[in-house]
Amino acid sequence: MAASSLPAIPIPAVHASHSGCWLRDHLGTRPVGKGEAIMAAADTPLLLLNAPLIASRLGYPDLSGLDLLELFAFVHPARFMVPTPKGLAQALGLAEPRSDDGVPVLLQAAAEALLATCEDPAWPEREGAWSALQSLVRLRWPWAGLLAPKIAQPQRAERWLFARLPEWEEAPERPQPAQIVLDDDAITARLAELTGSRAEQRPAQQAYARAAGAMFAPRSGQRQPHMVLAQAGTGTGKTFGYLAPASLWAEQSGGTVWVSTYTKALQRQLRRESQAAFPPERANGQGGRTGPPVVVRKGRENYLCLLNLEDALQGGFTGRPAIMAQLVARWAAYSQDGDMIGGDLPGWLGTLFRKRGITALTDQRGECVYAGCPHFRKCFIERAARASAGAELVIANHALVMINAARAREVAQRPTRIVFDEGHHVFEAADSTFAAALTGAETVELRRWVIGPEGSQRGRRRGLAARLADVASYDADGARAIADAREAASALPGDGWLARIVEGAPFGPIEDLLAETRELVLARDESGGQEAGYGLETEAAQLGGAFIEVAGRAQEALEALRQPLMRLALRLEALIEDGPDWLDGPARARIEGARGAIGWRTDLLSGWVALLARLGGPGDPEFVDWLALERSEGREWDIGLHRRYLDPMKPFAEAVLAGAHGVMMTSATLTDGAETKAGDWSGAVERSGAPQLGVRPEVFEAASPFDYAKNAEVLIVTDVPKGDIPALANAYGRLIEASGGGALGLFTAIRRLRAVYGRIADRLARGGLPLFAQHVDPIDTGTLVDIFRDDPRASLLGTDALRDGVDVPGHSLRLVVMEQVPWPKPSILHRARRLAHAEKFGGGGQAHDDRIIRARLAQAFGRLIRTGTDKGHFVVLSSAFPSRLLSAFPPGTPVRRVTLDAALQSVGGSVSEGSVTPLPFETRP
Ligand code: SF4
Repeated sequence: MAASSLPAIPIPAVHASHSGCWLRDHLGTRPVGKGEAIMAAADTPLLLLNAPLIASRLGYPDLSGLDLLELFAFVHPARFMVPTPKGLAQALGLAEPRSDDGVPVLLQAAAEALLATCEDPAWPEREGAWSALQSLVRLRWPWAGLLAPKIAQPQRAERWLFARLPEWEEAPERPQPAQIVLDDDAITARLAELTGSRAEQRPAQQAYARAAGAMFAPRSGQRQPHMVLAQAGTGTGKTFGYLAPASLWAEQSGGTVWVSTYTKALQRQLRRESQAAFPPERANGQGGRTGPPVVVRKGRENYLCLLNLEDALQGGFTGRPAIMAQLVARWAAYSQDGDMIGGDLPGWLGTLFRKRGITALTDQRGECVYAGCPHFRKCFIERAARASAGAELVIANHALVMINAARAREVAQRPTRIVFDEGHHVFEAADSTFAAALTGAETVELRRWVIGPEGSQRGRRRGLAARLADVASYDADGARAIADAREAASALPGDGWLARIVEGAPFGPIEDLLAETRELVLARDESGGQEAGYGLETEAAQLGGAFIEVAGRAQEALEALRQPLMRLALRLEALIEDGPDWLDGPARARIEGARGAIGWRTDLLSGWVALLARLGGPGDPEFVDWLALERSEGREWDIGLHRRYLDPMKPFAEAVLAGAHGVMMTSATLTDGAETKAGDWSGAVERSGAPQLGVRPEVFEAASPFDYAKNAEVLIVTDVPKGDIPALANAYGRLIEASGGGALGLFTAIRRLRAVYGRIADRLARGGLPLFAQHVDPIDTGTLVDIFRDDPRASLLGTDALRDGVDVPGHSLRLVVMEQVPWPKPSILHRARRLAHAEKFGGGGQAHDDRIIRARLAQAFGRLIRTGTDKGHFVVLSSAFPSRLLSAFPPGTPVRRVTLDAALQSVGGSVSEGSVTPLPFETRP
């Protein structure tokens, strides 16, 4: 930055990276040691960017100062910014710093620009700023003193947030969709509209779109949905491929299509791409519908609960969380849909304060009081739910689709035409959705939901009795049921349960059971996790008389709670039918809401009771049961009994498929590589749940149009010894250097990830190659990916979530490094499924493991080549990579087994034929 444009702001600024610290004060910018930087920050509040990250770089957790991220969140709420110096500069139109020592002056310029914005009459986010600032002054927010002279008091009093938000409209019930058959030519024409008339003709995409159209045909039998399984390689254009028939059907039939994804990255992409298929807005009433044509729908725990926010603003939060609540209130006024997790609330905001602060503002425990809430008509959750009933397209995730299909409040909200994109994840989403877990944490939640805050707990949360006070005063049976439920809930674990168990003083029948569970797991676990500090588990078998007795008492306690809740649910149903005078529309909606929430809890209790009832008897072959002690780094955090379906597609078929009319599952990796080679879809069909209903799905397959032979190379590095952390770190460090950053490093164990990161981060930073890591940097995963995408010299290390959730086309991602073959964890659940597979198909279970590994490799490889022009290397650091796994990679992809030195030459682009160790050359057939 030229001297003449140096910022006038006199506040000193500090920046710290892995390669050093820089302080800028009246003497100019100079490198300083960590100690001096910490001292300077203690003396006077310094400008800094992302205080938790700088604190971790300085090794001083108590660091505080004038964080530019907080100022940005105040001045430009709901605006996207990558929280790096480069991202800040881009967001504000300032010159990007060329190196670390240019960052402090940028921070000063950014502060000046943001403060100047507040004086600009055209500041778009002015409304509400003055009022919010008055509260922030009282909370002693460090920025408040600097902002106060810049923000003029408005001439007319500002409306409070809760008055400013728009109300949603009640919509009339929609008629059922018309039964129509889509014409192939019409689908092709719609696809051409979506892709643009100048787009190249893509026959595979056209064939895919027509295949997708088959799911919309009228159903000819009950419980017989039309099912399409469509595998299409990356680059086929799947999204427009299914949006073409989906938009056509929604338009002609008046119905709603749900598109379900597994990752947030795909949800964002769909939100963007669906704009071509559906108008952004629709005149109300058009085609008998109201509201926006496309709605993104998430679980209610993702959205801001306005009642919780009001409570936080009015004293429920104090100190730093109270400042965060003010910034969240600023955001709420400008947010598109109130989605706090992965929506337009910056992912970094929560980590600046504390994670729990954000989750405490959502409706985590289903304590919503529905129409009893003063903000009901403005509630983001209610708005999204209502909008989805009238939408043409609902974008959701697999878990929410399954839950909505199983227990949506209204028929209109149940998905009947569903496209499961990232269909290879439906099995695992069903596995967790239909699981039962009787654990300490779950039972504490249930107790709170019934009883409400106890002892010194505060806040607006209320128990069942308070939420249904009017029912209790009107209906004696209902009042008795509520009182009985409250008494029974007092037998559930309460606060401090884990400490009591560890000290050998459990209280009540459930804590007794958890204490026995813990003892048994500690006695029997042989996984090797004891020393490593990992979670421990043992199968629920050979439990012994004493354990069964304790389990029996726990079962009685749960039954004692389930019974009054069921009675209460019946009373509420009767009330809704009787319709007494006081039951107006809002009260009815609230009671219907309570009825739904109670139904969900009684289902939960039924699952737990069934799990305990089975413990003494013969095992049920449909289920896998085990006991677990959850730990991380040796610290215990939960204890419990777990139950999974051996085949979760069984409940999935009942809950989702049976009621659906059309379902498509699509992915680049729906079938296993080995199956495809033989033209065998049996595994994919089995995993779709279709055979459970006797349905025969249509199958479709299209290869990727990408030239993998030219643009990608798989390198299996054979000379990095397994378990040798220094060698592993050396390999990662040198590979990242060779590619000049742009590397995604995937690990199967957090411990190894941290060890590698600790050894190479400083060295890489000194070479101008920033390294970020999940589980190390105090930054949420979504923001880490944004940072990675934004800087082609940055690299990112992570675990499972990054194997699928990263969509970084172009030069920013040109190298993927896997630390080893991603073997499945040998858990009790895995062993049971492996055995079942071996019994059914033979082969000793290896085929089951191979399929899992190939799927993981294919997903990881899929991160590398996102467009036709992407190029890159995929490196696996494994001396023993079985050839049978090579079918995970797309046909034609070159695969070489090489030494690390040869891999470095290849990645660095300087490979010469003679220098490559002559190891076998393989190509994925
Ligand atoms: S209706 Fe429920 S979720 Fe919505 S703001 Fe009120 S309490 Fe919160």
